[in-house]
Amino acid sequence: MLGLKGFGSVKTASLILIVFLLALLVISRYSNTLLKIAVGQEINLKTAHFSVTETEHFKIKYIEADEPYIPMIAKASEEAYQAVCQAFDQEPSGKTIIVVYPDSASLSDSFGWDKDQKAMGVYWGGSIRILSPRVWIGSADADELFAREGPMVHEFAHLLVDEITRGNYNRWWTEGIAQYVEKNITGFAFADPFVGGRPVCYYELGSLTRSFDSLDQQIAYWQSLQIVEYLVAEYGEGCLFDILKALGKGLSMEQALENTLGIDYDTFEINVYDVLDGNGREV
Ligand SMILES: [Zn+2]
Repeated sequence: MLGLKGFGSVKTASLILIVFLLALLVISRYSNTLLKIAVGQEINLKTAHFSVTETEHFKIKYIEADEPYIPMIAKASEEAYQAVCQAFDQEPSGKTIIVVYPDSASLSDSFGWDKDQKAMGVYWGGSIRILSPRVWIGSADADELFAREGPMVHEFAHLLVDEITRGNYNRWWTEGIAQYVEKNITGFAFADPFVGGRPVCYYELGSLTRSFDSLDQQIAYWQSLQIVEYLVAEYGEGCLFDILKALGKGLSMEQALENTLGIDYDTFEINVYDVLDGNGREV
């Protein structure tokens, strides 16, 4: 009797453990989707008083002062959608929310950033937040300038990286890809921190992976683009999308690089430093 009772307890405990593990599996499998739902809900609550304009692929939220700029934002967003989806050969599921914040402070507040953080746009959890072009562009009909120097292509590229990898990526990878796609589509690139010369210093890949946000941002962004451009020059553009797909299957960045490039990670790292040092190869 006692034995059977004990066996019953073990069975119950095992069942609870299995249910717990299954729940963990479901949560980890869908954590990116859950994050997007949570971020979407938070935006809905905090921007409940904003006006909304819908285009074919976007829902744009804004306050009255920014209304004259909405046609320009809508046009640039749809153009970015076409160009970036073509580059990735992929479309996101559903419409993307764009929130237009009237100033840097309210954009920073929406993330809990300190006020010194200056950004023109941010991608986070399935949505794009941008600083109103009213703040930096002046005229509401500066379509070309907004399309070229505005944040839509860059931030939308982040969205597709997130979609394809199911949230399994690090900061240097998504910043490298977003800058690469942006440079190809609009021609825009951040200023070279070393003004065309060889880099005075750069970061080890480990630092770039672990602590991107606490590094010198100009160098960290520059280096991310250099690595992506090196991959394209050495292995062809297709390797970028193969790495993204491998990440989407749950592989680590190291595994995704090794499987796609056919070399071990240590060799990849040495090759990257070699290129950054300017040893015989152009980046
Ligand atoms: Zn970015």
